Amino acid sequence: MKVYISGTFYEQDEAKISVFDHGLLYGDGVFEGIRAYHGRVFRLRDHLDRLFDSAKAIALDIPMDGDALMRAVTEACKVNGIRDGYIRLVVTRGVGTLGLNPYLCKKSEVIIIADSIQLYPKEMYEQGMKVVTVGTLRNHAEAVNPRIKSLNYLNNVLAKIEAINAGVMECIMLNGQGQVAEASGDNIFVLKHGVLKTPPVWCGALEGITRNVVMDLAREAGIEVRETPLQRYDLYTADEMFMTGTAAEIIGITEVDRRTIGADGPGPVTRKLANAFHALTRTEGEPIL
Ligand code: PMP
Repeated sequence: MKVYISGTFYEQDEAKISVFDHGLLYGDGVFEGIRAYHGRVFRLRDHLDRLFDSAKAIALDIPMDGDALMRAVTEACKVNGIRDGYIRLVVTRGVGTLGLNPYLCKKSEVIIIADSIQLYPKEMYEQGMKVVTVGTLRNHAEAVNPRIKSLNYLNNVLAKIEAINAGVMECIMLNGQGQVAEASGDNIFVLKHGVLKTPPVWCGALEGITRNVVMDLAREAGIEVRETPLQRYDLYTADEMFMTGTAAEIIGITEVDRRTIGADGPGPVTRKLANAFHALTRTEGEPIL
């Protein structure tokens, strides 16, 4: 595998950045997880827009424009023979001193790893998954705003640890008001009486690319969609529930805190939206030349 670092492709073993990079020292940087399907990079523009917004929010200068980044991402796929895969695009603050001051960092580094990913076993997509709500809260919007896809994922890692300790693979995080925010690395949707609901970003959700695609697909299918605050009660009493994310795609949830959701595996609307999503991935995307 060849890894792109700031303009050059390196063999995997040679792909290294400095121990003085603030991405390592302080989690100071931003990233995107992107998928390629059938030789095309799905929603690449949307991912790059979010990357630039995340960078701007933390006053990080990305030393390339969107077009150049787009070419680099598709090239990383091409160089590695990736037609279906997962791309991790990372921008770190770069090499600095041992102090926090980001303005002393010389130049941010752009890293692109084009590989593959399988977050959950295949059977889980058929059977649905069990989750728990956890005590680790999503960050307050005036701390590291959860809309920023930063390299500082410790909060999410702590939530994930709680899930694994509880014997499940994923969790749902709440915000400081007890409202549902999202899973540790995915957005959350519930269906109740035919209405599809997901927390608005101000409740602590990342504005997921998959989330946006799913809301569009649902509306096209004539399903009413609402971005509305949800409480744990809304999870427990949902008719259907699923998570969305680039890596996870769409995965049904069949149990929350030991309350069963639906009857037998992921519900019909979840399945319908998952099928529509996969169909869409076959028809659009930025070509890998
Ligand atoms: N929330 C968080 C915290 C995430 O890290 C991600 C991406 N893994 C998502 C939601 C889903 O976003 P997307 O659909 O853009 O991958």
